Amino acid sequence: MAGLSSYLHTPARENVERALSQAKEHEAFHALLHLSEEKALSRADLIDSQEKKGRLAGVPFIVKDNFLTIGEPTTAASEMLASFQAPVMATAVEKLEAEGAICIGKANLDAFAHGGSTENSAFGPTKNAVDQTRVAGGSSGGSAVSVALDIVPFALGTDTGGSIRQPASFNGVVGVKPTYGAVSRYGVVAMASSTDVIGVLSNTVETSELVLDIMAGRDAKDMTTLPDFFEPLSESAPRKIGVIKEFMTSDVDSEVRQKTQDYIDALRGRGHTVEEVSLPMSKYALAVYYVVVPAEVSSNLGRYDGIRYGLRASDATSIASLYGLSRDRGFMPENKRRIMLGSYVLSSGFFDAYYLQAQKVRTLLINEFNALFASYDVLIGPVVPTPAFKLGENTDNPIHMYLSDVMTVPASLAGLPALSVPAGTTDSGLPVGVQLIGQRQSDALLLALAKEGEA
Ligand code: GLN
Repeated sequence: MAGLSSYLHTPARENVERALSQAKEHEAFHALLHLSEEKALSRADLIDSQEKKGRLAGVPFIVKDNFLTIGEPTTAASEMLASFQAPVMATAVEKLEAEGAICIGKANLDAFAHGGSTENSAFGPTKNAVDQTRVAGGSSGGSAVSVALDIVPFALGTDTGGSIRQPASFNGVVGVKPTYGAVSRYGVVAMASSTDVIGVLSNTVETSELVLDIMAGRDAKDMTTLPDFFEPLSESAPRKIGVIKEFMTSDVDSEVRQKTQDYIDALRGRGHTVEEVSLPMSKYALAVYYVVVPAEVSSNLGRYDGIRYGLRASDATSIASLYGLSRDRGFMPENKRRIMLGSYVLSSGFFDAYYLQAQKVRTLLINEFNALFASYDVLIGPVVPTPAFKLGENTDNPIHMYLSDVMTVPASLAGLPALSVPAGTTDSGLPVGVQLIGQRQSDALLLALAKEGEA
């Protein structure tokens, strides 16, 4: 895998031509929905002609197709936005391009980022980079596979409940979900506003660190952004690390547990203190997530009414049928399931029993995390209970699909930074990731610890 420095020492045109030809060579994986060939090549020529180079001068990258890139399709892998052209540029992409990076295309995802396998894409699934009979993971499946196949050194993704970390783990790449609010979400299709986070998938920790450093910071166009707190650490120090007991039970595949244990032993070997800790509320996290997130989804997807933008049913005969037919044709079954679930938990008579109750339990989970961070710098556990599952294995059973999120949703509900770091492969060669979770705004510390493990 080419590190960033080799890209920085190669003409931009050569980098882009290589990335485009790699993308075409690997078309069978269906990682990409759109290639911006001409635009990327002309930007490369421009960068090669400039004297002053940015920190990512000539480095090609890919973005998940829920990032708006001006003048280009942004489909969110849905029929709803299949012919939508983005009128603005996502701030994250704009910031990377200002440092000379070149976006070469848009990656496949589960429609509107609802899912954990990229099988919910309206345009067909992405295949796992290591085994084409298995899922890429999701919802940032196309981004993870693009990096794993070495088409680009990094790709952007979004993580609402695990969508960066889970596909990173399934394809053997680094996945970084920063602190909630660290990176502007302006120009990114909203899923669940209280947990949506933009982050990076990359082939080395160092690459993610630089990309995050460039993207982080306050944006006047997104009032939820935090002032820039991200400062990469030049050296690491002995840390206190807690192994989350509830993440290491027999419900987790034994090889996944073994890889996690090996990673933990290596941390100990490097002088860190490691102890077992308990996060009892984590057993309710999945239930809380699948109440809170659909509630927010049902409200965020309300804007797709067939009138303002997106798919419009031309055969509608009344305003009600215009809404109904447009939404019926534009959304995938999983999108509809979430809209119905969300509308139900928010409806009068059920609000207190479901939505309010879930928010209370969410607070208890946050309190438990805070109590642990009074004594520990980092928490550790697996990312997903299993390695990548077979294509089609969970498509008929949404609950099974949701279970794959059981260890990623706690950090999402609490707004905490969390990484997925490659930790080897199973005996049959499937990648396994380990998850590092930190206190809010401790992103740099997590990356420093992960970098040390890579050396
Ligand atoms: N798999 C989770 C879900 O379907 C996470 C999705 C995401 O983070 N976008 O909700």
